[in-house]
Amino acid sequence: MEIIHVSAECYPVAKAGGLGDVVGALPKYQRQLGHVAKVVMPMYRTKFLLANEWDVVHKGYTHLGNWWFNYTVIKEKTNKLGFDLYLVDINGVLDREKVYGYDDDIERFVAFQVSVADWLVAWKHRPDIVHVHDHQAALIPFFFKYCHAYQSLADIPTVLTIHNAQYQGWMGWDKSTYIPAYDTWKTGMLGWGNAINSLGSGIKCAWKVTTVSPTYLEEMRSNANGLEALLEYEKGKCSGILNGIDNLVWDPSTDGYFEDHFTIETVEEGKRKNKELLCQRFQLDPKKPLITFIGRLVGEKGADLLPQAIEDSFYYVGRRMNFLILGSGFPDVEGRLNAMKGLSRGDYNVYIGYDEALSHLMYAGADYILMPSRVEPCGLNQLYALRYGTIPVVRNTGGLHDTVLDYGDKNGYGIRFNHASVGDMTHGIWRAVEMYQQSEKVKEIRQHIMQLDFSWESSVKSYMQLYESIK
Ligand code: ADP
Repeated sequence: MEIIHVSAECYPVAKAGGLGDVVGALPKYQRQLGHVAKVVMPMYRTKFLLANEWDVVHKGYTHLGNWWFNYTVIKEKTNKLGFDLYLVDINGVLDREKVYGYDDDIERFVAFQVSVADWLVAWKHRPDIVHVHDHQAALIPFFFKYCHAYQSLADIPTVLTIHNAQYQGWMGWDKSTYIPAYDTWKTGMLGWGNAINSLGSGIKCAWKVTTVSPTYLEEMRSNANGLEALLEYEKGKCSGILNGIDNLVWDPSTDGYFEDHFTIETVEEGKRKNKELLCQRFQLDPKKPLITFIGRLVGEKGADLLPQAIEDSFYYVGRRMNFLILGSGFPDVEGRLNAMKGLSRGDYNVYIGYDEALSHLMYAGADYILMPSRVEPCGLNQLYALRYGTIPVVRNTGGLHDTVLDYGDKNGYGIRFNHASVGDMTHGIWRAVEMYQQSEKVKEIRQHIMQLDFSWESSVKSYMQLYESIK
């Protein structure tokens, strides 16, 4: 079967979060099963672009409303990632350093999708499935079904995966001219809640819709940033498929980002060495448990609760642990976390920014990873942490509910708390510190969690079954 993935991110080409990890891994595992998987994404100005060689495969000319533009599709020459990788270049629009965060993001990603559809028509090539990811690619099912110029693609089955329903690609109806000419009586298939809603349109028009964990799918029926009723209405075509992790990239015995590799047999020594490195670099105390947070410093991740929960932990649990935070996001949260460095007695530090190498070292050297998420569609951090023998302390929601069992329960190994509140998080931290005193228990849990299988091998089969059902 041939699948074309369309996405704004794909690791290691460009990644801002879990979407990049998933789109970098899923096609690779589909190839391993003998299928043909391709990825199409925007051409940003990234290291990966400059470090590799490319063939031009198509040049086209299309438009967004009155604005006509040239686009070029290039393909990586050597199939380095294990699948065909195509980048769409729109001069001055997509070729920027960051993936998101520009005032014209709407125009950028609609122009990207229009170019993809335009190219597929010109290519006269018929994949079995077009799999679109998140709102930056979610207008494509509408384009295929209802835009006059793309009618030759109308019978290609489309799948939309929602990695995060918080962001939906909203635009006012004044921007409807961006949508290539369509049957106006189908306008309703574009909108939701008085605006064009790219993700909402994708949910209406894609042949199948998936979310990245079964529990998130359930939760979205009551909490999906305004899309609840739509998801309830479309529930017949929705399913939840848990993300996997790329065991080739995320392997503590071979990880290219740090030197002190370890296996299940050497986990104690390996984690100790990596922890010492981290503690030295961030002036922390290696004798105390190291509790980390890695991620976007936004409300969704419960990052705003961190400063108070850390202060309360120091006050109520005592200065019996270290905290190390890696992330960037809301300036207010960044500022508060930075200011707290003044309170450190060699037991707190924060690195504001995005640093792939540091994140790998933290998974390897930490004792615990904290995830107080308000919303967590799947969550990859806890899966990486498990593979690296780091015990997750998580809020019981979405994918965290599906992947972390509390160590107080049968076969459990992590720490779960129910509310995204300072009190519940502090209690979770207290439990982690208490657990750490029982070194034999910690050893046993580390060995157990490193053996848990959250690889793509099983999830990829669920996607293949889904494709089969609509092919
Ligand atoms: P998201 O909602 O942000 O996509 P996920 O848990 O699905 O959350 O994926 C987060 C991914 O991004 C993980 O690979 C994590 O290690 C990485 N990540 C997040 N923030 C940072 C950062 N500041 N530096 C390095 N890696 C980060």
